[in-house]
Amino acid sequence: MDADAFRRHGHAVVDLIADYLEGVGERPVLAQVRPGEVREALPATPPRAPEPFDAALDDLERVLLPGITHWNHPAFHAYFAITGSGPGILGEALSAALNVNGMLWRTSPSATELEELVLDWLRQLLGLPAGLRAIVTDSASMSTMLALAAAREQAGLDVRQRGLAGRADVPLLRIYTSEHAHSSVEKAAITLGLGRDGVRTVPTDAQHRLDVTALGEAVREDLRFGYRPLAFVPTVGTTSTTSIDPVGAVAELRDELVAELGHPIWLHVDGAYGGMAAICPELRWVLDGVERADSFVTNPHKWLFTPIDCSALFVREPAWLTRAFSLVPEYLTTDDEGVTDYMDWGVQLGRRFRALKLWLVIRYFGADGLAARIREHVAQAQRVVAWVEQHPDLELMAPAPLSTVCFRAAPEDLGGDEDARRRLNRAWLARINATGEAYLSHTELDGRYVLRLALGNLRTTDERLSATLAVLERELTTARAAGSG
Ligand code: PLP
Repeated sequence: MDADAFRRHGHAVVDLIADYLEGVGERPVLAQVRPGEVREALPATPPRAPEPFDAALDDLERVLLPGITHWNHPAFHAYFAITGSGPGILGEALSAALNVNGMLWRTSPSATELEELVLDWLRQLLGLPAGLRAIVTDSASMSTMLALAAAREQAGLDVRQRGLAGRADVPLLRIYTSEHAHSSVEKAAITLGLGRDGVRTVPTDAQHRLDVTALGEAVREDLRFGYRPLAFVPTVGTTSTTSIDPVGAVAELRDELVAELGHPIWLHVDGAYGGMAAICPELRWVLDGVERADSFVTNPHKWLFTPIDCSALFVREPAWLTRAFSLVPEYLTTDDEGVTDYMDWGVQLGRRFRALKLWLVIRYFGADGLAARIREHVAQAQRVVAWVEQHPDLELMAPAPLSTVCFRAAPEDLGGDEDARRRLNRAWLARINATGEAYLSHTELDGRYVLRLALGNLRTTDERLSATLAVLERELTTARAAGSG
């Protein structure tokens, strides 16, 4: 593609993106296609001859867009609502154009140094202590896996060299987290050879926060059976309810146990979604205690308007990561001194220039702009809480400290019949999502089926939220009229 053709197609793509973003709210938010429909509509074999670029763009519009679930839609309230903001999208385009591989400092000094700089900006925005170092990864799942690999290295068991299999000299290692922790903690344990049994989930209190007394009891019980505590993983903003674990108290317990047992216990905090709330000074408390952690993950691709993927892993001592992962074959050696070679910090060699989009996002919005947007989402969540609380047939199922609300229908005429309530709420959610006018997801809390409504999209105006609540109201009426429940 020569420069003129690139310019022509590029302009068409930018127009397409601008039109898409402007009109995304008019599309069905949840893709309304059946399984296999998208593939069937496209040729099964590659073209032999070159095709016009415009023809592919036509197929994008005709076939692919109907099969897209629009995460950029103002009524996308499932999972965690996110936004690919304008500066972030343009940052993605620029990083694809530069196409650098930031594996070593010298393979693009700007990529490495901007990553260090922008993560230090993020640290400052979150009020985290100076001196923390950080790396951008593709996901919180990867960040947590790297952090727990560092923990395993710090345990001093020479697992890097000797592995775990068949080792009579290695105790059973355990990671402790809450019953509401994200599945990525268990996936990390699987990846690191600890197995799912290597994770013990600890009960939570009435507000779904990790119960630190129960944590202490679990560790003491395990010690009697020969387990060795490897790491504690509290969450700031759990996936189901956004509950905030008491990180300071967990750190306190960790310090006591370390003094007593004489070996380290790593403290990794998962703030994948909720961590960003700390950008608002009045919400900074969510990170209380994180200053005592060994590592902390938060995702700009969740609540910082940066297109997926972009996760930030902060570490107190990067040496544990590099001891776990640095492996430099001759062809990658350099004489560069005093530089960061990010390939040494994890599994990946090749690395995208993700810091660029994050840098553009932070510069475009500024600290005040970012805080204002996050604050608005929290206020919108409070509107939804008020709507639930005032509704005679609805029940708030968990506190909503951030921007996600958990609730269900529990109309009086169903009495305490939990099966009927479950049927009604499942039918209600299915109806809402089938309309294409809004998309919510669900979870289970204390054995109850619960709807979740997450705010976090820059395009969700108060007006649009009112329209969405009207859809919920209407579909509840129809679900009830259809006899669901
Ligand atoms: N941790 C928490 C608390 C989450 O809510 C999620 C995803 O929602 C993750 C980790 C995993 O994030 P990722 O998709 O970046 O791996």
